[in-house]
Amino acid sequence: MRVAVFSSKSYDRKFLDAANAGRHQLVYLEPRLDASTAIAADGAQAVCAFVNDHVDSAVLELLAQQGIRLLALRCAGFNNVDLVAARALGIEVARVPEYSPYSVAEHAVAMILTLNRKIHRASARVREGNFALEGLLGFDLHGKTVGVVGTGKIGYCFIRIMAGFGCRVLAFDPYQNEHCVAAGAEYVDLPQLLSSSDIISLHCPLTPQTHHLIDEKAIRTMRRGAMLINISRGGIIDTRAVIRGLKSGMIGSLGLDVYEEEDNLFFRDLSNTVIHDDVFARLLTFPNVVVTGHQAFFTHEALSEIARITMENISSFEQTGKAAYPVSVERIV
Ligand code: NAD
Repeated sequence: MRVAVFSSKSYDRKFLDAANAGRHQLVYLEPRLDASTAIAADGAQAVCAFVNDHVDSAVLELLAQQGIRLLALRCAGFNNVDLVAARALGIEVARVPEYSPYSVAEHAVAMILTLNRKIHRASARVREGNFALEGLLGFDLHGKTVGVVGTGKIGYCFIRIMAGFGCRVLAFDPYQNEHCVAAGAEYVDLPQLLSSSDIISLHCPLTPQTHHLIDEKAIRTMRRGAMLINISRGGIIDTRAVIRGLKSGMIGSLGLDVYEEEDNLFFRDLSNTVIHDDVFARLLTFPNVVVTGHQAFFTHEALSEIARITMENISSFEQTGKAAYPVSVERIV
């Protein structure tokens, strides 16, 4: 099958080529998929897209006109795809439901340790010959309460790690996961989780229900000075409200791997340009904020598995007309 791979980077090429082993013709395209670039899929039967590709109804229509029958997402989330339009146009949507939940959970833990022990600041100080400890005081994780919102595959891994630190773990999810209970998590409602946690970590998908789940009201419910971690999707927190929370001290520290407007920023080198997003720029001025550019998934194991399952989706679709891991529209309606 000829597959147009949008938003492709050198590492995508390396892992996808290895998993493909010459079976399909992969055409690597650097631009993001949107209405202005969809035409580049001409001649392909499938499109491979990533988290910040805009796969709305207009883009899907352009793809359908070119004969695209499969949209193979090389990620778990599918909030950037109009699934209703895809079904109406007869385009199968596939994803990688699970690759390495460890990669993402471990990145959340890296953020907690960095923010708590101020590793980002300490490292910069030492490089300048400043060995003073003022301002670097942290706290023991042991005995602290960690609130986990979303207890699926990543949330479960995260809970196990935090329980290993000796933390008390509170959890909120519409569906209880018995493995999380066995790992020591106690399910509570969201207000109780927010008001009782020293650290809150978000591991739910972005849906209409979770959009701005952490807003002004939620922040007012939080324990003063709590640490907030979002490695899930940017839209789950209201960034402007979080900035106000940081200024008032309600939020003691913030770790972000995702950002509401990240598709204008992430996955490219902008170091020689001016950042025009003032909200993002304000975030970077806080000493108690750490931001990474959507890299929680970025481990060798995760990329190998993403490539393997993406190829499985494409091969299965070619052979049977059905992807191995389709996304059904029923998931959102
Ligand atoms: P999953 O489907 O296994 O688990 C998600 C959990 O969230 C489920 O248990 C679900 O019931 C729960 N949930 C749904 N709505 C909720 C709500 N309103 N409140 C609380 N919980 C709710 O998914 P996963 O593999 O654990 O991934 C979770 C999310 O992590 C993905 O949706 C994606 O957005 C994000 N993610 C980020 C990266 C990254 O690199 N930063 C990588 C992979 C996944």
